[in-house]
Amino acid sequence: MFIPRRILFEKNTLNYEIGKNIYNYFKDDKSIEIIELSNSRIKENIPGENLFDFYREGKKTLVVGIKKGMKFQSCKPSAHYQLPLLSGCTGQCQYCYLNTNLSDKPYMRVNVNIDDILMQAQKYIDERLPDQTIFEGSATSDPVPVEPYSNSLKKTIQFFSKSENGRFRFVSKYTDIETLLEIEHKGNTEIRFTLNTDKVIKDYENKTPSLNKRIEACQKITKAKYPLGFIIAPIFMYDGWKNDYKKLLIEIKTNLPDEISHPLSFEVISHRYTTRAKNTILEVFPTTELPMNDEERVYKYGQFGYGKFVYPKEEITEIKNFFNKEINSLFDNKIVKYII
Ligand code: SF4
Repeated sequence: MFIPRRILFEKNTLNYEIGKNIYNYFKDDKSIEIIELSNSRIKENIPGENLFDFYREGKKTLVVGIKKGMKFQSCKPSAHYQLPLLSGCTGQCQYCYLNTNLSDKPYMRVNVNIDDILMQAQKYIDERLPDQTIFEGSATSDPVPVEPYSNSLKKTIQFFSKSENGRFRFVSKYTDIETLLEIEHKGNTEIRFTLNTDKVIKDYENKTPSLNKRIEACQKITKAKYPLGFIIAPIFMYDGWKNDYKKLLIEIKTNLPDEISHPLSFEVISHRYTTRAKNTILEVFPTTELPMNDEERVYKYGQFGYGKFVYPKEEITEIKNFFNKEINSLFDNKIVKYII
């Protein structure tokens, strides 16, 4: 569970249930600085003269805010819309896309006006009737480490359990899921875990739970009969990668019951980076050993005018063939959504 060093409450957030719950949870802990803001100047209250220090202090900060503007971003291919419950993450994965997308906001932010957010979700669901509408709860965050005291996911899962045409999904590397296990979900929420080999977790996924802990959490999720999925990402083709990823898939297989309530879903994503991401990563993690040698990659143009450095085509094909073969031979009841 995330225990912040400082919590910034934006104006009026203590009038909401989530704001009050967070305040009451931490108010007696003298090691935590509690700041009630009269303006929205968050950055001024987080120390750090440069990106290196600001990133580290930001990662120790929780901002309790109110979501303004209720236009949801689209979220292809994983869902129709992002559900803006939270943003940021307490982890410090070196390759993380948030390092670039939210580099000026490395803190965890919880939006307290969840009723407004869910009401807006209902409007989007109604607009798309009779089709189903899927919402992604982790497009710009890992929402799990604050769940024990925010209860944002719990409330959202309960909302979607009553929905005919709305579905919810989120992904995490964290394991603070106890409060989600006993609640009504009706199979309308899919919980995914991002997994990787022990080597990748140890080398690059700073401050995240071990593979064993994540697999234990997966076991609890299947026992609670949620649809369960895996994002295996990012795939790195280091010496011995096939052995390690095969071991990972076998570990998933042997630790889950044979009979599960829903097919397991798999999404597999190879490592990629933009030049902007690389520059930010080198500033925040100057000694990183992430493989980001442009000469070993090919440049793939993106739709927004900037491209990414991805593995060459033959290597992507090798990744696809490998994962298709191994997943198909190990798992019967599964859906491979994509391997890219
Ligand atoms: Fe980023 Fe996910 Fe790691 Fe958090 S856990 S730092 S969101 S990659």
